[in-house]
Amino acid sequence: MAILKVARLGHPVLRAKALPVAKGDITSPRIQRLIDDMFETMVEYAGIGLAAPQVHEGLRVFVAGVRKAEVTTPMDDESDMPFITIVNPEIVPVGASISQGWEGCLSIPDIRGQVPRPDSIRLRALDRTGRRIELMAHGLPARVVQHENDHLDGVLFFDRMTSLDTLTYMDEFRRYWAKDDDET
Ligand SMILES: [Zn+2]
Repeated sequence: MAILKVARLGHPVLRAKALPVAKGDITSPRIQRLIDDMFETMVEYAGIGLAAPQVHEGLRVFVAGVRKAEVTTPMDDESDMPFITIVNPEIVPVGASISQGWEGCLSIPDIRGQVPRPDSIRLRALDRTGRRIELMAHGLPARVVQHENDHLDGVLFFDRMTSLDTLTYMDEFRRYWAKDDDET
């Protein structure tokens, strides 16, 4: 396992469209190692999601979550999000409810901003064994999945902000905004 270098805002890999992984390649040593390294990198930098383009791999793969646990559906705010490995995802919003919530990004260090996202989504993808999975997600897990999925299309959370008024460094976030934050 290895901690990978994370691409930062401005690196063209973050703006490129990632390519699907062939189903038969998912269990290859190269992709399995990439997934293991992505988890190690995400945990090292205290992230809750990391997409392959962020580690300079233009593949439709992301990892997310805060603890090793069985993945059950729906994923919601009630328990800490389990570690998930998502390959070739398709995401559709469920319902019309949209909320603003704070987001950060390992590729945009030390900055947070409020991003509107659908509250509930349905996620179809392959897992790290190449098995087809379908998950419902609400609240924070839904937000994380949408943020990571955006990375696969070269989209960053700045692009989704409807106003830049809430853009803040972490020190100022803690000082002026954290009391309004119901997610952390
Ligand atoms: Zn990100």
